[in-house]
Amino acid sequence: MKKSTIAIQSPFPHRDAYGAIAMPVYHTDAYEFDNAAVMADAFCGRINEPDYSRITNPTVIHFENRVKALTGARDVVAVNSGMAAISNVVLTLASAGKNIVTSRHLFGNTFALLSRTMARFGVECRAVDLLDEKQVTEAVDADTCALFFEILTNPQLEVADVAMLARVAHACGAPLVADTTAIPFTEFDAHALGVDIEVVSSTKYISGGATTIGGLIIDYGTVKNFDERLRRDTLMNFGAYMTPHVAYMQTLGLENLAARYALQSANTAALARKLRTLPQIKEVNYTGFEDNPYNKLMVKQYGGTAGAMMTIDLESEQACYDFLNKLQLVKRATNLFDNKTLAIHPASTIFGPFTPEQRKAMDVKDTTIRLSVGLEDVDDIFNDISQALN
Ligand SMILES: *Cc1c(COP(=O)(O)O)cnc(C)c1O
Repeated sequence: MKKSTIAIQSPFPHRDAYGAIAMPVYHTDAYEFDNAAVMADAFCGRINEPDYSRITNPTVIHFENRVKALTGARDVVAVNSGMAAISNVVLTLASAGKNIVTSRHLFGNTFALLSRTMARFGVECRAVDLLDEKQVTEAVDADTCALFFEILTNPQLEVADVAMLARVAHACGAPLVADTTAIPFTEFDAHALGVDIEVVSSTKYISGGATTIGGLIIDYGTVKNFDERLRRDTLMNFGAYMTPHVAYMQTLGLENLAARYALQSANTAALARKLRTLPQIKEVNYTGFEDNPYNKLMVKQYGGTAGAMMTIDLESEQACYDFLNKLQLVKRATNLFDNKTLAIHPASTIFGPFTPEQRKAMDVKDTTIRLSVGLEDVDDIFNDISQALN
């Protein structure tokens, strides 16, 4: 079956007692067993039946199974945020004395987790330029527990050569971990590019209607003991498993993701071209432009679309604030890939807690506005942006 069919039709773990065609929300914390022996088997992982909803829940399993069927992964674990996905992966792979090699260009909280939080536990963060093979090769060594990168960085919109990163990581036996939030995993095959573990903030494309926060860990089974340690150690002991209501909402989001993404990515391409004609915009940064330096790699690696995120640069920080204040249709909000078009000034918000020097090192500029393009009519989005610039 094709992915658009799998996203809708993959079966429930058990037929529902009433034959419900939408996965019911199993709002229960525990499960009753027929006898003590079966109970012991469930608790010790000898049979695959839910025992306690911090560890597993039928509604969440159904969501995980859909993602598994769509990606071909060996296991998928759903957790309560994108950051929980990232931190659970890091806590599973890392230990004191190990290091994580990553980029200077990372989602703000991920950068803070790797560089600040993990430092308290004796894990070193080596932030390098992932476009430079020499720098990556020099940074990776026998103590590297992960080479971590984002497939399309935000707000810089930089694209690394995934095959090169995989080669360098695997030469040292280090797992390649990719945050693939920026392009839906239904659009490309991360594992074929050499990725061992994928993390996704399902808050974004999958949730769609800005309904819920969630995260996914997609494990291709290529890292020794990872699945066992994640499920039986990190997940149980840190307790960040997804709740059934969130899984229900996100399963619905997954069902119409293909249709939304087709419209959203086409809207973004059309809007980017139109914005280039406006003199108040100094630069439109969008990897879907053929003259964008990352375009060829983007098309080759991620299936030919360029997502629904772009940035525009205005004359000054004040011009960015004035622009945001005049928007009427486009929402002043964070989040990405919502059904509604959103605008944000990353330097003063997401990256606001960092010092100007740190922002400079991360190439986060005071003059940049990030746009996440929604499902509205593209002329209406354009008209709102042009009136706000005048
Ligand atoms: C939003 C985001 C995250 C964090 O996800 P949450 O669901 O907000 O915890 C991580 N990485 C990227 C690339 C994101 O866009």
